[in-house]
Amino acid sequence: MTGIGKEARFAQVKSVDRVTGLAQASGHVCDWARLRSASPEVGSPVENTVKKRRRMKLRALRAAGLGGVGIETLAVLAMLGALACAPAHGQTYDVVISHGIVMDPESGLDAVRSVGISNGRIRTISTASLTGKRDIDARGLVVAPGFIDVHEHGQEPRNYQFQAHDGVTTSLELELGTDDVGKWYAAREGKSLINFGVSAGHIPMRIRAMTGQEVPSLSAMNTPVAEAANHRELTAEELGRLRAAIETGLQEGALAEGMGINYTPGASHWEILEMFRLAVKYHTPLQVHLRYSSLLEPQSGAAALEEVIAAAAVTGAQLHVAHITSMGLKYTPQFIEMIAGARRQGVDITTECYPYTASSTNLNSAVFDEGWQQRYDITYKDLQWAETGERLTPESFARYRRQGGLVVIHEIPEAAVRAAVADPSIMIASDGLPITGPKIHPRGQGTFSRVLGHYVREEKVLDLMTALRKMTLLPAQLLEKRAPSFRNKGRLRVGADADVTVFDPSRVIDKATFEEPLQYSEGIVFVLVNGVLVVKDGQLVEGVYPGREARAPIPHK
Ligand SMILES: [Zn+2]
Repeated sequence: MTGIGKEARFAQVKSVDRVTGLAQASGHVCDWARLRSASPEVGSPVENTVKKRRRMKLRALRAAGLGGVGIETLAVLAMLGALACAPAHGQTYDVVISHGIVMDPESGLDAVRSVGISNGRIRTISTASLTGKRDIDARGLVVAPGFIDVHEHGQEPRNYQFQAHDGVTTSLELELGTDDVGKWYAAREGKSLINFGVSAGHIPMRIRAMTGQEVPSLSAMNTPVAEAANHRELTAEELGRLRAAIETGLQEGALAEGMGINYTPGASHWEILEMFRLAVKYHTPLQVHLRYSSLLEPQSGAAALEEVIAAAAVTGAQLHVAHITSMGLKYTPQFIEMIAGARRQGVDITTECYPYTASSTNLNSAVFDEGWQQRYDITYKDLQWAETGERLTPESFARYRRQGGLVVIHEIPEAAVRAAVADPSIMIASDGLPITGPKIHPRGQGTFSRVLGHYVREEKVLDLMTALRKMTLLPAQLLEKRAPSFRNKGRLRVGADADVTVFDPSRVIDKATFEEPLQYSEGIVFVLVNGVLVVKDGQLVEGVYPGREARAPIPHK
């Protein structure tokens, strides 16, 4: 038996106590329940009639100092309360997830409960048996908030299928972003398996401001014309166009401002500061791929991290540093400490990681400009050409760099991965890529299951609740100031969006490898997006598109 099997059984034992204790103030039901739990008369919700409950709520309200409120108001409030959160007697929900181990990182709830869902929202979380038009038996399975991936470049239907199998219910392209926010959302509306969102992308908007060319895809950011722009400083006029483009994207509801300074070496420090100031104006986080990941001074990863920490400190912007392990490499623990230190000093800064010892990017990007071997302490054999899986030589490197395409870079020490995966404050995010061939990096397909199966269960690097928090609550909190709709994501509580991932803690594991990357994760048994099943008994549900836009409010014009 594995570690998590024991943990799951332990959770069930604990939950029996909670069932007999009933409606403890664990924050998982609602204020009504908390009020009720203070009353000595509370009995089993199954036994209670609606009438009796209403009477008790009135009494509890009076006890809470609302005695002066008119009796009609109280009755209405009581009825609303009964509708909103009681496991109402005789009520039929759209979907019920029965008797699973419900784990909610916000409230700390970790107990056997049934979840009632109607109209795309969680309506009740109860110890009682519930009735649903559809019943999902989750006995022995963990019922968690759906995972939120804040860093996924692959935003096509095939990516969404892999992500759903990996437990992801909201997939966001926040790092590179897009040059046309309105068009990006419109292309996915009503056609998406899972929820989707995007940032206003500094790289594509910068290329567009400088060359006039649209940048519809990742590969279009590394054409010869785009690369010439990426390596050049902006003129004042171009900076004006870039600012206007980013403002338009943010006004159209982009969730963040995305930057990849490593890919735009021509961007001056002044330009970066301007971009941070814009983010502050729109109360939006910046997701930033640092200027360097080099181990060598003076253009080191540490200097690059200092650049953005300084920009955040100077402007007050909310900064999110992309994939800390592929930036920090062997200095990842020191990077984590720098970020924690900046946070202690009042800088609004977070970061994320994926659970792999290789990164991946375009071979024809600025990352591989002269001197890359010394910068990353790697050589040709550490590079794997994604299309064929072959390791590179000086000859094939030169040929493929001219041709352009994805390369996998075996450069991240396992100790760096563990340090980031174990840290409770660091989000899990895949940095997944569009599926351009049979041999892409496995991270877009297996990140979340790999953390749960390999690092939680097999390696015991962190506990299950901490891992879930890094996949659900932390990403939601990153975005909820900019987009208040995220206050109802990443949580399993009454009123939250019914994005739910149900998995077998003793079986969940990634199957995508560097050799065979296009394989679904295993052990993710049910996935609901806005209350609609997209994975059922471990299989994709065909023909459903419940994914909705995850977008910041668009100001009235
Ligand atoms: Zn990146």
